[in-house]
Amino acid sequence: MKPILEHARTLDLADPLAPFRERFVIEDPDLIYLDGNSLGRLPKASADLAQKLVRDAWGVRLIRSWNEGWLGAPERIGAKIAQLIGAAPDEVIVADSTTVNLFKLAVAALQAGRGRRRILSDDLNFPSDYYALQGVCELLDKGHRLERIPSEDGVYGPEAALEAALNEDTALLTLSHTVFKSGFVYDMKRLSEAAHAVGALTLWDLSHSVGSVMVDLNEAGADLAVGCSYKYLNGGPGAPAFLYVRRALQEQLGNPIPGWMGKADLFDFEPEYESAPGLRRFLTGTSPVLSTLLVEPGVDLLLEAGMARLREKSVKQTDYLIALADEYLAPLGFSLKSPRDASRRGSHVSLGHPQALGIDLAMIAENVIPDFRPPDNIRLGVAPLYTRFVDLFEAVARIQAVVQNGLHEAYMQETPTVT
Ligand SMILES: *Cc1c(COP(=O)(O)O)cnc(C)c1O
Repeated sequence: MKPILEHARTLDLADPLAPFRERFVIEDPDLIYLDGNSLGRLPKASADLAQKLVRDAWGVRLIRSWNEGWLGAPERIGAKIAQLIGAAPDEVIVADSTTVNLFKLAVAALQAGRGRRRILSDDLNFPSDYYALQGVCELLDKGHRLERIPSEDGVYGPEAALEAALNEDTALLTLSHTVFKSGFVYDMKRLSEAAHAVGALTLWDLSHSVGSVMVDLNEAGADLAVGCSYKYLNGGPGAPAFLYVRRALQEQLGNPIPGWMGKADLFDFEPEYESAPGLRRFLTGTSPVLSTLLVEPGVDLLLEAGMARLREKSVKQTDYLIALADEYLAPLGFSLKSPRDASRRGSHVSLGHPQALGIDLAMIAENVIPDFRPPDNIRLGVAPLYTRFVDLFEAVARIQAVVQNGLHEAYMQETPTVT
């Protein structure tokens, strides 16, 4: 049966999470925003909080605010994020950017790795992760090397090949839990067990998982993780990231960029460094206080909605989007570049097309915002807190019109900076 607009309306009416859309700033009702996997929308509560933080906490309370919630914010908000990813409250802290956190935890893991030299990953990981890992290898200068196991189809992660490649020389297995391009989701438990069987540690990048798929770090036996807060957490542009260290490892690992914010007594101003107990040791300098505090309203919305309900809606929506693409876009040369199996798919759907860049730009002109990932991927991100089924229907209708009317042809020469 052909999917029609009426179905989308019915699905929205039956959606228990539909009221959450009103909790976001939506200035342009015609805009279909399918890029919440790159920069989540602005929660109304964050807009209000930003005013209060600037005018009152900074403007009026000034330095007294450090004792009125600023100093403990990285741990307090980390403890809330922990609830979204199956970690204990004292296992997650908000800090730095994802890349910096990955760098810090990778160094810590390799230094604890007792001479093991291999870092294992795939070829679907986020490039910034490779850059950081290569930098780590060069800096340590102890013969560490990064090995990238190739995916067979560019969509599914090479789970069996990764398992086979693990050996006694492997210090660290590091992967994006949800792959940024295809949306494939790794079996975290299976790979963590395989890594532990050879004595390696695991480091997961949760940037496309947190707030979009079920993650249970403790249950999976994950050692280390990092993730981003400006995507599905709606923390705002440049919002700080978070890091996770399994409790049993916290006292064994050190921060390779020590600083006063991670010192046991931060106000004794003594020249000798001594790590703070617990995760605070992974802080370096002063945190971006305003951005850190603005992560909280988005996290609160996700906690209120509940990850199980969010995931359920996300699966329904990405299934629906794929059904629409099969029906209306496949005949126009689009191919599915995400797993069809919902249990292995995150909350975005990638479509391939030989003229993807032109189509991406023409879509933006038609007030549908996806993103483009080279060479030929259009990513359509579903953020179940504010994406409606009718948005998906309308987006596909506009994409179909773009291609049928050749609107993308005018854009084929352009090279935009942010896609
Ligand atoms: C978005 C994203 C990041 C972001 O890294 P930053 O250092 O916070 O800019 C990292 N890893 C993955 C997998 C991502 O999707």
